[in-house]
Amino acid sequence: MAIGPRVYMDWNATAPLLDEARAAVLAGLDMMNPSSVHGEGRAARAALEKARRQVAALVGAEPAHVVFTSGATEAANTLLCDEYRMGRRPVGIGHVYLSAIEHPAIREGGRFPVDKISEIPVTHQGVADLDALKAFLASHDEASGMPLVALMAVNNETGVIQPVAEAAALVHARGGLLVVDAVQAAGRVPLDIATLGADFLILSSHKIGGPKGVGALVSRGEVLMPAPLVRGGGQEKGHRSGTENLAAILGFGAAAEVALAGLEGRMARIAALRDRLEAGLRIAAADVIIHGADVPRVANTCFFSLPGLKSETGQIAFDLEGVAVSAGSACSSGKVGESHVLAAMGCDPKLGALRISLGTSSNEADVERAVAAFVKIAGRRKATEAA
Ligand code: PLP
Repeated sequence: MAIGPRVYMDWNATAPLLDEARAAVLAGLDMMNPSSVHGEGRAARAALEKARRQVAALVGAEPAHVVFTSGATEAANTLLCDEYRMGRRPVGIGHVYLSAIEHPAIREGGRFPVDKISEIPVTHQGVADLDALKAFLASHDEASGMPLVALMAVNNETGVIQPVAEAAALVHARGGLLVVDAVQAAGRVPLDIATLGADFLILSSHKIGGPKGVGALVSRGEVLMPAPLVRGGGQEKGHRSGTENLAAILGFGAAAEVALAGLEGRMARIAALRDRLEAGLRIAAADVIIHGADVPRVANTCFFSLPGLKSETGQIAFDLEGVAVSAGSACSSGKVGESHVLAAMGCDPKLGALRISLGTSSNEADVERAVAAFVKIAGRRKATEAA
């Protein structure tokens, strides 16, 4: 997407707001409290339930199993909890096993103490090591409670698709629960909660063209639910109290409907753009390393390193060329840190990496701009080396 002379290529950080989402947000701003029983309240409730159906459809779930939250981070903190409930009966979770490449929202371990958290390693291509998961589950102490495993569907830095269904079979064979952060998979690959075998999915609106500050946790059966993180008035069937952020939720629903429609055609077009981009990077610098290139990835993401180019320097250089890209991991202060994903993949995190991520309105001109910027950046690196 070109914003004036600029090109936006950081869709994994946030997708631009869709027109459909903007219209739904504006409509929602004038609605009343969905918990009120009068006509105005019932109208708001009807709109809320429509959004719930739209979000459920994106992941093949029952609308009744969607709980709206303030975003994926809150959903993760709700789900990573050592006390679940089956009706009123408490069910203890003994230990949580997280892949080493999870987003910090999961990686921080939610409400688990550090001694109850273990990290599942990944391969050099950034795929979770299922043999390691199997070994963890085999040595899990059942007396401590159930095992809970968190494995993201798609990594936000590499775009690498994780073996969720295979992991689900292992987890369920041990009577455990599987939480899947599907934030970067939604709208990019077909998602069906039952086929994935996830007990819970986590979604975020702003990655699919909805507003920021809204997301959802989606359960497969609603039989076993985490103790709520936010308690109070009992909204969202007691799973997340507080008057619903109706405007944002309606925007999320509208974005989910757009994300589902025409997904395959959209992603095929984006895949062709990404292939062109990567061919351009390789021609410009033969030693460019494209992470996860040999394993299945979502079509929109290119995560690459150029030896001798630091993440921060590269990001600024692209920015000066008018191209918005991301460094491996940027913390909230905007400072570029070393990527825990690269480190987990066994790469030297000092190597640095840049992420270019595309979306619905990305086009060939954007790709040409990014490649031209990279040609200049790589050329400067060679000049510095020669000096
Ligand atoms: N999980 C993944 C994979 C993400 O990419 C992000 C956002 O960067 C999050 C979770 C957090 O989402 P939110 O901003 O809705 O809290």
